[in-house]
Amino acid sequence: MLCRAGGSLMNESYILSKMAKKLYRKGVQIQCAIDPNMFDGKYIDKDAIYDSRNHIIYFRYEGGIITPWIILHELLHAFQTGLAGVEYTEENELQSEFEVLLMTDVFSLKMWDRFSNSEGLNSKAYKDFVSQIANFELSGDNGIAQERLIEMFRERYKEWAGGAATTYYCPSFLIYYLRRQWRN
Ligand SMILES: [Zn+2]
Repeated sequence: MLCRAGGSLMNESYILSKMAKKLYRKGVQIQCAIDPNMFDGKYIDKDAIYDSRNHIIYFRYEGGIITPWIILHELLHAFQTGLAGVEYTEENELQSEFEVLLMTDVFSLKMWDRFSNSEGLNSKAYKDFVSQIANFELSGDNGIAQERLIEMFRERYKEWAGGAATTYYCPSFLIYYLRRQWRN
């Protein structure tokens, strides 16, 4: 049932389905499982998590509130690690999470014309950034330089996290999304 919900997301977004196909061609098949035991410790507040080692999206409950945004969010974690090569570390944990929150809003805006209402930001600067990304205004030959893009990401991250990151994180998934020619 859950994976069918993921499948219907693919039908709603050409880019998501392309990403899933690319991941599949790399030999990665995303699976879903329900396992309340996965939600101890730092995952205590979560309803779903993605394990990049075995490519399984774990949900806490069978009958829990699993919205399209939750599934979208976890799928984007799979693409972030499997396609953009992000590896989670303690240092980049919050920044890579913010990148997925941002991209969840990007796809939410593209598919459903609204923000995901999750833990992203609410500011005008954030919303403008999301819609510029969604509309590919920051990419292509006329797009901005990668350094500026990273700088913009870090500004919004700072706003979200309430402080600057101590270590450098390159938002590879954001860059991957913007630099691909999705229409080809
Ligand atoms: Zn997440």
